[in-house]
Amino acid sequence: MAPLISISNLKKAYGIFTVLHGINLDIAEGEVVCVIGPSGSGKSTLIRCINRLEAFSNESSIVVDGVTVGPGKALAKVRAEVGMVFQSFNLFPHLTVLKNVMLAPMRVRGTKPADAERKARELLARVGISEQAEKYPGKLSGGQQQRVAIARALAMEPKVMLFDEPTSSLDPEMVGEVLDVMKELAWMGVTMVVVTHEMGFARQVADRVIFMDGGRIVEEGTPTDIFDTPKEERTQSFLRAVL
Ligand code: ADP
Ligand code: MG
Repeated sequence: MAPLISISNLKKAYGIFTVLHGINLDIAEGEVVCVIGPSGSGKSTLIRCINRLEAFSNESSIVVDGVTVGPGKALAKVRAEVGMVFQSFNLFPHLTVLKNVMLAPMRVRGTKPADAERKARELLARVGISEQAEKYPGKLSGGQQQRVAIARALAMEPKVMLFDEPTSSLDPEMVGEVLDVMKELAWMGVTMVVVTHEMGFARQVADRVIFMDGGRIVEEGTPTDIFDTPKEERTQSFLRAVL
C-alpha cells in the first residue's frame, strides 16, 4: 500500500543556513510516529513543511494521500486533510469553544451549522470538556485549551494529525490530560506525527521513533530500538541528557 505521507529529499534553508538536509520519510496510514531531538534540530520545520506552512526546496517532494504538496491549488485540499496542533493553542479568542470547533467544517467543507454543532459537541465530549462549550478560550486552563485545539483539528476529519510539542507550554499537572487524549487517538488508529519531549509517551504510543539532529534523521526505529538499544552516539548522548 502507498504510504499516506511520502517525503523525499526534503531540503529547507533560511538564506545560507540549511535547516533540513534532504529528509526521506514515509508514513503509513494508521502509523504513530514520534519525532525527538535537540532544540534547533529541525523537528518543527519538518512537520510544518508537510502542509506547507513552510515553503521548501524545488528539489524536494512531499505527497499527502496522493496529492503533491506544492504552492498551487491542491494545497487547500492538503491543508483540509492535515490537522495541526501547536505548542501555543492558537484558538480564536473571540469565539466560544463550541464555535472554535464548528468554524472550519462550516467555512471549508460547507457543513450545515446544525451538523457542525452536533459533531463539535461529540468531539468536545470525546476530549472531556463538554461543560466548557459555551465559554471563551481565555476562561479555560491550558490543558483544556489544548484539548479544544485537538477537537478543533479533528472536526475536519483529517487523514493525519500533526502535533508540535503539544504539551510543552502546559503546567506539569495538565500534561497528563492532554497526553491521555492523544493516546486515545493513537489507539483508535489515527495517523499521527508527534514532535515531543515526552519520552514516556513516545515509548508507550509510537510505532516508530525518529531521532533528528542537525537537520537530519540520525536514527529511527521502534521505541525499544531507540530507547533501549540506540546505535548512534548522538542518539545515546541525547537520551542520556533527557532521560
Ligand atoms: P526544532 O523544532 O527542532 O527546535 P526548528 O525546526 O524550529 O527546530 O528550527 C531549526 C533551525 O532553523 C533552528 O536553527 C532555527 O533557529 C532555524 N529557524 C527556524 N525558523 C527560522 C526562521 N524563520 N528564520 C531563520 N531561521 C529559522
Ligand atoms: Mg520546534
